[in-house]
Amino acid sequence: MVERMVQAEDYEPFVGGETIERIQKKAKSLAGLHVVNINSTYYGGGVAELLSSTSLLMNSVGIKTGWRVIQGPPDFFSITKKMHNALQGDEINLSERKMEIYEEVIQENAIRNHLDSHNMVIIHDPQPLPMIHHYKKNGPWVWRCHIDLTSPNRELWDYLAPTIEKYDAVILSLKDYAQNIKTPQVFFMPAIDPFKIKNREMSEEEMKERLAHYEIPTDLPLVVQISRFDRWKDPLGVIQAFHLARKEVDCTLVLLGNVATDDPEGAEIYESLLDSREERVIILSVQDTALVNALQRQAAVVLQKSIREGFGLTVAEAMWKGTPVIGGNAGGIRYQIEDGVNGFLVSSVEEAAERIVRLIKDQKLREEMGKKAKETVREKFLLIRYLEQYLDLFNAFETIYRLKGLPGS
Ligand code: UDP
Repeated sequence: MVERMVQAEDYEPFVGGETIERIQKKAKSLAGLHVVNINSTYYGGGVAELLSSTSLLMNSVGIKTGWRVIQGPPDFFSITKKMHNALQGDEINLSERKMEIYEEVIQENAIRNHLDSHNMVIIHDPQPLPMIHHYKKNGPWVWRCHIDLTSPNRELWDYLAPTIEKYDAVILSLKDYAQNIKTPQVFFMPAIDPFKIKNREMSEEEMKERLAHYEIPTDLPLVVQISRFDRWKDPLGVIQAFHLARKEVDCTLVLLGNVATDDPEGAEIYESLLDSREERVIILSVQDTALVNALQRQAAVVLQKSIREGFGLTVAEAMWKGTPVIGGNAGGIRYQIEDGVNGFLVSSVEEAAERIVRLIKDQKLREEMGKKAKETVREKFLLIRYLEQYLDLFNAFETIYRLKGLPGS
């Protein structure tokens, strides 16, 4: 049986018929557009998560949209992860050798990809960024950077900026990340797909079955963080906060994580946490989206104690399930959580511990915050809004290109 793909109309119960009609109208004027997205991993992490749903939703409104993933050897991904870290503020030793490997692997990918027939190219994050050097444009090229650019390393930024400026537009997740470059910058916060296995309704039975499968006890309230194993997500801080909280309330911690194919540091971070395992500290590295759903629903509290976070999809996912989230006061999380209203923002282990205790002790507070959290996601963080922002950008390009008589119009 072929399953019916999600359509824009499916969002009607959440956003109303008028919004859907408006979006369909915007898409209609873009028929004939051939879009391709390029990133560096097909799973693990928010970019792949977003691309898998957004590319399908765009096809559902009649825009031919593809998604391709670049390939590279481990040393390439080790360099690009260092770049990712440096864009989030770390130091980097930007040697000639690193730049050569980076540029050469991207040239190889450019040769293999034949992007000449697409009239809209969207390149995600720094890994495939230099692809633009290897093509004659047949329409706009957009760089979509998902990273927290609060304080990028200057040396790296200065190296990347001339390439970024070859693009026709840059999409960043927040205005706070705007940079001093010539290219026009627009700001789209990511969003979640409520129809995915990870986010859709789940029966009590299904939930219990998934948790039992991994021997996750439900006798005590669950405190959960779900994240790639990455130090920016502060997993050690989560464990410390949990231990502090446990002095006052009894609970179980579950840290669920995965490792993206473009992130060579993940395995090391995972291993560094294993000594913290004990009866009430469960650390799992499995790829199971139904388990993500079950944990986000069953949790009394979800944590996302990030130090840097472009935008936390995991935050929106948990909020959508009516679970209150304690988020690090960083990056996009500050725009997802309104402190003390639909969750809590924290800046230290102690603050996180205090909020865990408060939420576990107060069921009414959990319910109230959870309800508001769900409503926040319905209003602001569903994928249909993200789709409309893309359509607006594409339509703006169409107008410019038509006026200028450029190819791709
Ligand atoms: N995720 C998952 N399994 C895991 C850990 C994370 O499926 O074990 C998913 C998570 O549900 C979310 C995405 O990976 O959809 C992470 O996106 P986010 O924006 O939170 O962080 P990123 O990894 O992009 O920094």
